[in-house]
Amino acid sequence: MESVNGKECSPVGAKQPAFIAYPNRSARLGVLDISRALPIRDRRMVGPWCFLDRFGPLSFTSNKPMRVPPHPHIGLQTVSWLLEGEVLHNDSLGSEAMVRPGGVNVMTAGNGISHTEETPGVNRGRLNGVQLWVALPDSARNTAPSFTNVAQVPTVDTRGGIIQVFAGTINGATSPAHYYSEIVGLDVQIHPESEFEMDLDSGNEHALLVLSGDCNFEKTELEERRLYYLGIYRSSVSITSRAGSRVLFIGGPPFPETILMWWNFVARTPEELSQARADWVAQRRFGQVAGEHGARLAAPDLMRFARPNPAS
Ligand code: MN
Repeated sequence: MESVNGKECSPVGAKQPAFIAYPNRSARLGVLDISRALPIRDRRMVGPWCFLDRFGPLSFTSNKPMRVPPHPHIGLQTVSWLLEGEVLHNDSLGSEAMVRPGGVNVMTAGNGISHTEETPGVNRGRLNGVQLWVALPDSARNTAPSFTNVAQVPTVDTRGGIIQVFAGTINGATSPAHYYSEIVGLDVQIHPESEFEMDLDSGNEHALLVLSGDCNFEKTELEERRLYYLGIYRSSVSITSRAGSRVLFIGGPPFPETILMWWNFVARTPEELSQARADWVAQRRFGQVAGEHGARLAAPDLMRFARPNPAS
Protein backbone atom coordinates (compact mmCIF):
# COMPACT_ATOMS: atom_id res chain seq x y z
CA MET A 1 0.00 0.00 0.00
CA GLU A 2 1.39 3.39 -0.98
CA SER A 3 1.76 6.06 1.63
CA VAL A 4 -0.33 9.16 1.37
CA ASN A 5 1.43 12.45 1.37
CA GLY A 6 -0.43 14.44 3.97
CA LYS A 7 0.98 17.74 2.78
CA GLU A 8 -0.68 17.54 -0.61
CA CYS A 9 -4.05 18.91 0.31
CA SER A 10 -4.91 21.33 -2.48
CA PRO A 11 -8.48 20.92 -3.68
CA VAL A 12 -8.72 19.36 -7.12
CA GLY A 13 -8.44 22.02 -9.76
CA ALA A 14 -7.02 24.66 -7.42
CA LYS A 15 -4.91 27.19 -9.28
CA GLN A 16 -1.38 27.49 -7.99
CA PRO A 17 0.69 30.56 -8.70
CA ALA A 18 3.98 30.04 -10.49
CA PHE A 19 7.41 30.94 -9.14
CA ILE A 20 10.00 30.48 -11.88
CA ALA A 21 13.46 32.05 -12.20
CA TYR A 22 14.65 32.90 -15.70
CA PRO A 23 18.30 33.97 -16.00
CA ASN A 24 18.77 37.22 -17.95
CA ARG A 25 20.99 37.10 -20.99
CA SER A 26 23.76 39.50 -21.88
CA ALA A 27 23.30 41.83 -24.84
CA ARG A 28 24.67 45.09 -26.19
CA LEU A 29 22.94 48.38 -26.84
CA GLY A 30 25.46 50.35 -28.87
CA VAL A 31 28.48 50.56 -26.55
CA LEU A 32 26.47 49.68 -23.45
CA ASP A 33 26.47 46.20 -21.88
CA ILE A 34 22.97 45.29 -20.83
CA SER A 35 21.21 42.40 -19.14
CA ARG A 36 18.04 41.31 -20.96
CA ALA A 37 15.25 39.97 -18.76
CA LEU A 38 12.54 39.99 -21.47
CA PRO A 39 12.02 38.52 -23.96
CA ILE A 40 13.94 35.32 -23.31
CA ARG A 41 13.57 31.82 -24.67
CA ASP A 42 10.91 30.55 -22.32
CA ARG A 43 9.26 33.79 -21.27
CA ARG A 44 8.19 36.18 -23.98
CA MET A 45 5.83 38.44 -22.03
CA VAL A 46 4.54 39.31 -18.57
CA GLY A 47 1.07 40.66 -19.25
CA PRO A 48 1.62 43.23 -22.02
CA TRP A 49 5.23 43.85 -20.93
CA CYS A 50 7.32 42.42 -23.78
CA PHE A 51 10.82 43.81 -23.24
CA LEU A 52 12.98 44.54 -20.20
CA ASP A 53 16.62 45.57 -20.34
CA ARG A 54 18.67 46.29 -17.23
CA PHE A 55 21.74 48.53 -17.58
CA GLY A 56 24.27 49.65 -14.99
CA PRO A 57 25.09 50.58 -12.37
CA LEU A 58 28.19 52.05 -13.97
CA SER A 59 30.47 55.05 -13.67
CA PHE A 60 32.01 56.85 -16.62
CA THR A 61 34.12 59.89 -17.39
CA SER A 62 34.55 60.99 -21.00
CA ASN A 63 32.60 58.37 -22.97
CA LYS A 64 28.81 58.53 -23.12
CA PRO A 65 27.58 55.05 -22.23
CA MET A 66 24.18 55.57 -23.86
CA ARG A 67 24.17 56.69 -27.48
CA VAL A 68 21.25 55.24 -29.39
CA PRO A 69 20.96 57.02 -32.75
CA PRO A 70 17.63 57.53 -34.57
CA HIS A 71 15.63 54.31 -34.84
CA PRO A 72 11.95 53.48 -35.42
CA HIS A 73 9.23 51.79 -33.37
CA ILE A 74 5.70 50.57 -34.03
CA GLY A 75 3.00 48.88 -31.94
CA LEU A 76 4.46 49.48 -28.48
CA GLN A 77 5.17 51.96 -25.71
CA THR A 78 8.71 52.49 -24.44
CA VAL A 79 9.12 53.12 -20.71
CA SER A 80 12.43 54.56 -19.45
CA TRP A 81 13.10 54.38 -15.71
CA LEU A 82 16.36 55.36 -14.05
CA LEU A 83 17.88 54.69 -10.65
CA GLU A 84 20.89 56.95 -11.28
CA GLY A 85 22.04 59.37 -13.94
CA GLU A 86 20.11 60.88 -16.81
CA VAL A 87 19.03 60.04 -20.35
CA LEU A 88 18.00 62.58 -22.99
CA HIS A 89 15.14 61.61 -25.31
CA ASN A 90 14.43 63.25 -28.70
CA ASP A 91 11.81 62.08 -31.17
CA SER A 92 10.28 62.75 -34.56
CA LEU A 93 7.36 64.61 -32.96
CA GLY A 94 9.84 67.24 -31.78
CA SER A 95 9.74 66.09 -28.15
CA GLU A 96 12.89 66.59 -26.10
CA ALA A 97 12.92 65.40 -22.50
CA MET A 98 15.48 64.44 -19.90
CA VAL A 99 14.54 61.53 -17.68
CA ARG A 100 16.05 61.43 -14.20
CA PRO A 101 15.57 59.16 -11.17
CA GLY A 102 12.00 59.46 -9.91
CA GLY A 103 10.63 60.44 -13.31
CA VAL A 104 9.60 58.38 -16.31
CA ASN A 105 9.61 58.82 -20.07
CA VAL A 106 6.77 57.04 -21.87
CA MET A 107 6.69 57.03 -25.66
CA THR A 108 3.71 55.61 -27.53
CA ALA A 109 4.91 54.45 -30.93
CA GLY A 110 1.45 53.68 -32.32
CA ASN A 111 1.71 53.47 -36.10
CA GLY A 112 5.23 54.84 -36.19
CA ILE A 113 7.75 57.10 -34.49
CA SER A 114 11.53 57.45 -34.40
CA HIS A 115 13.65 58.57 -31.48
CA THR A 116 17.11 58.85 -29.96
CA GLU A 117 18.30 58.19 -26.40
CA GLU A 118 21.63 59.39 -25.11
CA THR A 119 23.61 60.38 -22.08
CA PRO A 120 23.58 64.21 -22.09
CA GLY A 121 26.80 66.22 -22.30
CA VAL A 122 26.29 67.51 -18.78
CA ASN A 123 25.86 64.44 -16.60
CA ARG A 124 26.61 62.90 -13.21
CA GLY A 125 28.95 60.27 -14.59
CA ARG A 126 26.61 57.50 -13.47
CA LEU A 127 24.07 55.35 -15.30
CA ASN A 128 21.72 52.81 -13.77
CA GLY A 129 18.25 51.93 -14.96
CA VAL A 130 15.83 49.87 -16.99
CA GLN A 131 14.20 50.14 -20.38
CA LEU A 132 10.84 48.46 -20.89
CA TRP A 133 8.36 48.01 -23.71
CA VAL A 134 4.63 47.45 -23.44
CA ALA A 135 2.80 45.84 -26.37
CA LEU A 136 -0.16 47.91 -27.49
CA PRO A 137 -3.46 46.04 -27.81
CA ASP A 138 -4.89 45.80 -31.30
CA SER A 139 -7.37 48.59 -30.55
CA ALA A 140 -4.53 51.04 -29.85
CA ARG A 141 -1.59 49.89 -31.90
CA ASN A 142 -2.38 52.06 -34.93
CA THR A 143 -2.94 55.17 -32.85
CA ALA A 144 -0.98 58.35 -33.57
CA PRO A 145 2.39 58.46 -31.81
CA SER A 146 2.77 60.50 -28.62
CA PHE A 147 5.26 61.18 -25.87
CA THR A 148 4.94 61.91 -22.13
CA ASN A 149 7.59 62.97 -19.63
CA VAL A 150 6.64 62.63 -15.97
CA ALA A 151 9.13 64.51 -13.80
CA GLN A 152 8.11 62.78 -10.57
CA VAL A 153 5.94 59.67 -10.32
CA PRO A 154 3.72 59.06 -7.27
CA THR A 155 5.20 57.26 -4.28
CA VAL A 156 3.41 55.13 -1.69
CA ASP A 157 4.73 54.59 1.82
CA THR A 158 3.62 51.12 2.71
CA ARG A 159 4.42 48.36 5.14
CA GLY A 160 8.12 47.59 4.91
CA GLY A 161 8.95 49.91 2.05
CA ILE A 162 8.29 52.69 -0.42
CA ILE A 163 6.74 52.09 -3.84
CA GLN A 164 7.39 54.36 -6.80
CA VAL A 165 4.57 53.91 -9.32
CA PHE A 166 5.76 54.50 -12.88
CA ALA A 167 2.92 52.54 -14.49
CA GLY A 168 -0.64 51.83 -13.42
CA THR A 169 -2.17 52.00 -9.94
CA ILE A 170 -1.17 50.52 -6.60
CA ASN A 171 -2.61 51.36 -3.16
CA GLY A 172 -4.57 54.24 -4.67
CA ALA A 173 -1.55 55.90 -6.33
CA THR A 174 -1.71 56.15 -10.12
CA SER A 175 1.08 56.98 -12.55
CA PRO A 176 0.07 59.99 -14.65
CA ALA A 177 1.44 58.34 -17.79
CA HIS A 178 -1.27 56.82 -19.98
CA TYR A 179 -1.16 53.12 -20.78
CA TYR A 180 -3.54 51.04 -22.87
CA SER A 181 -3.77 47.97 -20.61
CA GLU A 182 -4.27 47.62 -16.84
CA ILE A 183 -0.58 47.22 -16.16
CA VAL A 184 1.56 47.97 -13.14
CA GLY A 185 5.20 49.05 -13.18
CA LEU A 186 6.72 49.60 -9.73
CA ASP A 187 10.10 50.31 -8.20
CA VAL A 188 9.98 49.06 -4.62
CA GLN A 189 12.49 50.07 -1.99
CA ILE A 190 12.41 47.59 0.91
CA HIS A 191 13.64 48.87 4.24
CA PRO A 192 16.40 47.05 6.15
CA GLU A 193 15.21 44.41 8.62
CA SER A 194 11.75 44.58 7.12
CA GLU A 195 8.99 42.54 5.60
CA PHE A 196 7.44 44.27 2.62
CA GLU A 197 3.85 43.46 1.76
CA MET A 198 1.75 44.55 -1.17
CA ASP A 199 -1.66 43.55 -2.52
CA LEU A 200 -1.79 42.38 -6.12
CA ASP A 201 -4.57 41.93 -8.65
CA SER A 202 -4.85 38.13 -8.68
CA GLY A 203 -6.01 38.15 -12.31
CA ASN A 204 -2.74 39.71 -13.42
CA GLU A 205 0.57 38.06 -14.19
CA HIS A 206 3.50 39.50 -12.26
CA ALA A 207 7.27 39.28 -12.32
CA LEU A 208 10.05 40.86 -10.32
CA LEU A 209 13.67 41.75 -10.89
CA VAL A 210 16.06 42.51 -8.04
CA LEU A 211 17.78 45.84 -8.73
CA SER A 212 20.04 45.77 -5.65
CA GLY A 213 20.30 44.36 -2.15
CA ASP A 214 19.09 41.14 -0.54
CA CYS A 215 15.57 39.78 -0.90
CA ASN A 216 13.90 36.68 0.41
CA PHE A 217 10.67 35.51 -1.23
CA GLU A 218 8.96 32.24 -0.28
CA LYS A 219 12.11 31.06 1.56
CA THR A 220 14.27 31.72 -1.51
CA GLU A 221 17.13 34.22 -1.64
CA LEU A 222 16.55 36.16 -4.84
CA GLU A 223 19.45 37.05 -7.11
CA GLU A 224 20.08 39.93 -9.47
CA ARG A 225 20.02 39.24 -13.23
CA ARG A 226 17.14 36.83 -12.94
CA LEU A 227 13.53 37.49 -13.84
CA TYR A 228 11.28 35.88 -11.25
CA TYR A 229 7.96 35.07 -12.86
CA LEU A 230 5.17 34.91 -10.29
CA GLY A 231 2.29 33.92 -12.59
CA ILE A 232 -1.32 34.77 -11.85
CA TYR A 233 -3.51 33.80 -8.84
CA ARG A 234 -1.57 35.94 -6.36
CA SER A 235 -3.53 38.44 -4.30
CA SER A 236 -0.47 39.64 -2.37
CA VAL A 237 3.29 39.42 -2.26
CA SER A 238 5.63 39.45 0.72
CA ILE A 239 9.39 39.98 0.57
CA THR A 240 11.84 40.27 3.45
CA SER A 241 15.21 42.00 3.44
CA ARG A 242 18.04 42.07 5.96
CA ALA A 243 20.06 45.06 4.72
CA GLY A 244 17.50 46.66 2.43
CA SER A 245 16.88 46.17 -1.27
CA ARG A 246 15.32 47.54 -4.38
CA VAL A 247 13.03 45.50 -6.62
CA LEU A 248 11.33 46.16 -9.95
CA PHE A 249 7.77 44.78 -10.25
CA ILE A 250 5.88 44.45 -13.51
CA GLY A 251 2.43 43.02 -14.04
CA GLY A 252 -0.71 43.07 -16.11
CA PRO A 253 -3.50 40.95 -17.52
CA PRO A 254 -2.23 38.03 -19.62
CA PHE A 255 -1.96 39.49 -23.13
CA PRO A 256 -4.82 38.02 -25.19
CA GLU A 257 -3.21 38.52 -28.60
CA THR A 258 -0.27 36.80 -30.29
CA ILE A 259 2.35 39.37 -31.16
CA LEU A 260 5.29 39.26 -33.53
CA MET A 261 8.36 41.11 -32.29
CA TRP A 262 11.23 41.86 -34.61
CA TRP A 263 13.94 44.50 -34.11
CA ASN A 264 12.14 47.54 -32.68
CA PHE A 265 8.71 46.57 -33.96
CA VAL A 266 5.71 44.86 -32.37
CA ALA A 267 3.21 43.67 -34.98
CA ARG A 268 0.82 40.82 -35.74
CA THR A 269 1.92 39.64 -39.20
CA PRO A 270 5.24 39.25 -41.06
CA GLU A 271 3.86 41.57 -43.73
CA GLU A 272 3.49 44.40 -41.19
CA LEU A 273 7.08 43.91 -40.06
CA SER A 274 8.29 43.88 -43.65
CA GLN A 275 6.34 47.05 -44.43
CA ALA A 276 7.68 48.85 -41.36
CA ARG A 277 11.24 47.89 -42.29
CA ALA A 278 10.73 49.07 -45.89
CA ASP A 279 9.28 52.36 -44.65
CA TRP A 280 12.29 52.93 -42.41
CA VAL A 281 14.74 52.15 -45.23
CA ALA A 282 12.86 54.49 -47.60
CA GLN A 283 12.70 57.24 -44.92
CA ARG A 284 8.89 57.23 -44.90
CA ARG A 285 6.40 57.07 -42.04
CA PHE A 286 8.78 57.55 -39.10
CA GLY A 287 9.61 61.24 -39.49
CA GLN A 288 12.96 62.72 -38.54
CA VAL A 289 14.63 63.48 -35.23
CA ALA A 290 15.94 67.05 -35.34
CA GLY A 291 19.51 67.75 -34.24
CA GLU A 292 22.76 65.82 -34.35
CA HIS A 293 22.31 62.35 -32.91
CA GLY A 294 24.43 60.23 -35.26
CA ALA A 295 23.52 58.21 -38.32
CA ARG A 296 20.13 56.48 -38.41
CA LEU A 297 20.31 52.88 -37.26
CA ALA A 298 20.33 50.50 -40.20
CA ALA A 299 17.55 47.91 -40.15
CA PRO A 300 18.85 44.34 -39.91
CA ASP A 301 18.27 41.89 -42.70
CA LEU A 302 14.65 40.83 -42.58
CA MET A 303 15.35 37.47 -44.26
CA ARG A 304 16.77 36.09 -41.03
CA PHE A 305 13.65 37.01 -39.16
CA ALA A 306 10.77 36.93 -41.65
CA ARG A 307 9.18 34.10 -39.68
CA PRO A 308 9.91 35.17 -36.12
CA ASN A 309 11.20 32.23 -34.20
CA PRO A 310 9.43 32.00 -30.85
CA ALA A 311 12.61 30.54 -29.35
CA SER A 312 14.87 33.34 -30.54
MN1 MN B 1 13.92 52.91 -28.80
